Amino acid sequence: MIQKLTIAQSIAQAVNWKAHCADCIYLSGGTEVNRLGSEDHQEGISIGRLNMDEIRMEGSMLAIGATVTFTEALESDLVPMGLKQALRHMDSMTKRNMATIGGNIAAKRDDSYIIPALVAMDAKLSVMDLDRSQSQMSLWDYVSDPYSSRLLIIDILLDPKARIASRRISRTAQSHASITMSISLDPALACAAIKGTGIVRLEGVEKAIAKGLGGKDLERIGSEEPCQVVDDIHASAAYKRYLLGILAADLAGGLR
Ligand SMILES: Cc1cc2nc3c(=O)[nH]c(=O)nc-3n(C[C@H](O)[C@H](O)[C@H](O)COP(=O)(O)OP(=O)(O)OC[C@H]3O[C@@H](n4cnc5c(N)ncnc54)[C@H](O)[C@@H]3O)c2cc1C
Repeated sequence: MIQKLTIAQSIAQAVNWKAHCADCIYLSGGTEVNRLGSEDHQEGISIGRLNMDEIRMEGSMLAIGATVTFTEALESDLVPMGLKQALRHMDSMTKRNMATIGGNIAAKRDDSYIIPALVAMDAKLSVMDLDRSQSQMSLWDYVSDPYSSRLLIIDILLDPKARIASRRISRTAQSHASITMSISLDPALACAAIKGTGIVRLEGVEKAIAKGLGGKDLERIGSEEPCQVVDDIHASAAYKRYLLGILAADLAGGLR
């Protein structure tokens, strides 16, 4: 549990503090950090006052500040419907009002609400490293980097015209999801958060979509993705594999 909280007044100050404190974590909406059972940290650096809560166009790209909440993104006319569909996977209004887009990405949960959608949109992140160098990276590279917690996410950048479809399968709207999947046809991108496995690029599905395959072919290819899938309290491994196939075929079919 966080014992000491410091409130950063600038992005540079937040990054500087983090560089000098091994056990410090960035604190945004706090819905993951303060959740019972989440990773234990002693010190938090609040990033709520860094003016990273704007949604704006930067040329042809949409830039969403990392501390924009789910509610703010849902209420914005600039945020595309495809992303809003994924934002609505977070059913609780209380959480929507607190939880931020950057926090959801950085949490990298295996039932992530929005990472699959952002990967399918080929989103980029503007980030600052501990040496205060600022750069852009693909969201997928961020997700794949085991040391990404050193990076401060500043903005999420995406093409507002990207067309994606998403679905989250859980026992109830408030339960953990077994699978959350998002797909884009052009470019062919497919990503799933699989409970017990993690966030996975569905490369077989992507290749099949690029070849124009659909229906039963895509269903089979999706269910045979070479990732490890495990039984847990939410669903059996067999059911998760079935879902991977059915969702891939259904989402791609809906976009055609
Ligand atoms: C009952 C309950 C159920 C939940 N179910 C789900 C679920 O099904 N799926 C899901 O995805 N989440 C779930 N969550 C977790 C959480 O609500 C979301 O992931 C939320 O979007 C996190 O955002 P936050 O702003 O609250 O992040 P915080 O809790 O503030 O931070 C989360 C992590 O991100 C880091 N971080 C935050 N902002 C940044 C930034 N700008 N740059 C770099 N690092 C940053 C923090 O250091 C921390 O490690 C649940 C939470 C609760 C309480």
